[in-house]
Amino acid sequence: MLKVCKFGGSSLSDAKHFKQVKAIIEADPDRKCVIVSAPGKGEGECDKITDLLYLCFQHRKYHVEFDGLFERIEQRYLKIKKELNIDYPIENDLNEIREALKEKKLTEAKLVSRGEYLCAKLLAAYLGYSFIDAKDVIHFKFDGKVDEKKTSEDIAKAFAKVEKAVIPGFYGAYPNGEVCLFSRGGSDVSASYFAEALDAYLYENFTDVSGFYMADPRIIPNPLRINEISYDELRELSYAGAQVLHAETIIPLMEKRIPLEVLNSNHPEEGGTFIKDKAPGNNHLITGLTGKKGFIALTFVKSRESDKLESIRSVLDVFARYKVPVEHIPTSIDSFSVISEKSKLEDRYFDLVAELKKLPEIVSISEDSDVALIAIVGSNMAKKSGVSGRLLSVFGEEKINIKLIDQGREEINIIVGISNADYDKSLKALYTRFSGEII
Ligand code: ASP
Repeated sequence: MLKVCKFGGSSLSDAKHFKQVKAIIEADPDRKCVIVSAPGKGEGECDKITDLLYLCFQHRKYHVEFDGLFERIEQRYLKIKKELNIDYPIENDLNEIREALKEKKLTEAKLVSRGEYLCAKLLAAYLGYSFIDAKDVIHFKFDGKVDEKKTSEDIAKAFAKVEKAVIPGFYGAYPNGEVCLFSRGGSDVSASYFAEALDAYLYENFTDVSGFYMADPRIIPNPLRINEISYDELRELSYAGAQVLHAETIIPLMEKRIPLEVLNSNHPEEGGTFIKDKAPGNNHLITGLTGKKGFIALTFVKSRESDKLESIRSVLDVFARYKVPVEHIPTSIDSFSVISEKSKLEDRYFDLVAELKKLPEIVSISEDSDVALIAIVGSNMAKKSGVSGRLLSVFGEEKINIKLIDQGREEINIIVGISNADYDKSLKALYTRFSGEII
């Protein structure tokens, strides 16, 4: 019987936080499998180690002096070691990494992964736990996807040899042994693979907030906490913008229905959000509100002769070739729009549009680069008449123009596209009206 615990970077930012983590782990003998992020920002610390490592790599690549940056990284680990009297020769690892970086012997992924590696080494020594290197158990295929079967088997094998272990999150290895990273925030996902492989009865994810809130506290002061949420609702919220967990975290947990609890390492006693396979037992109409600004809508008018399906397919082929993720495709009889996140287009935008303009099926393309998306999520909204009407009427009352509406599968989410300038106002109006509604 074990729990998998994952501690995020803000929970391991300095010696004080390492102490808190130790107290949490020692308070429950089932906390035998611990996954860590690299030290993040904290009270006296303004850098995320992962960001510094990325920066170091770029400096080295362009022959810019990186000693100062590397020293900042070194000092973080050395300070934790010294203040906690940890008996682990981390200086040797740091020297080795510096030399390898100087000699350009490290890939970017390998260098960046050292953030979690060093953190796990220190914490393992501090707790008296074994260390398992993620590169030996998290296996990526060459297409960048996790080889789930091999990963699950090797985690179980590695854990059979130890009683308790700390493991660095965020990375694994390709079949040739080269380090491969998950996307940013990926230690959450690493821990899910451990929970799955070890049949954990609970995955506790410790961060710096006491779970998920019904809306972004930066916009809605003191929002209600979501005490319980289903996997599906959480995926919708994470995908649409809620940033507490990596959007892929749930996937490895789904088959075995392993529950996940998001807790605050600074205040574990406050409780958090419990995430499970079934819809929550509560009777709130809405579980959460989230969203993001910064989308772009490209609208395509198809030629009269061409078939609509063919036109959409040709346009999406170009998006796929440029590796630009597509969020929504609202359609009308002769035109359709493709909504994407602006930040995902980056410098590919002009080439992408130039290529789209060459498509024979398309007669014109127009652009709206002022789109924000709001996601209203709640399993209690499903199969009830009048819910979307009432939600959307809020926009009308606030004189907010709706640019797009999309209701997702299972009717547990409704996406509304508006102007960026209307984003905060929309969230506030929806929260005020619906956060307390009980069905
Ligand atoms: N340290 C990595 C990041 O900052 C991974 C993680 O924290 O999960 O994205």
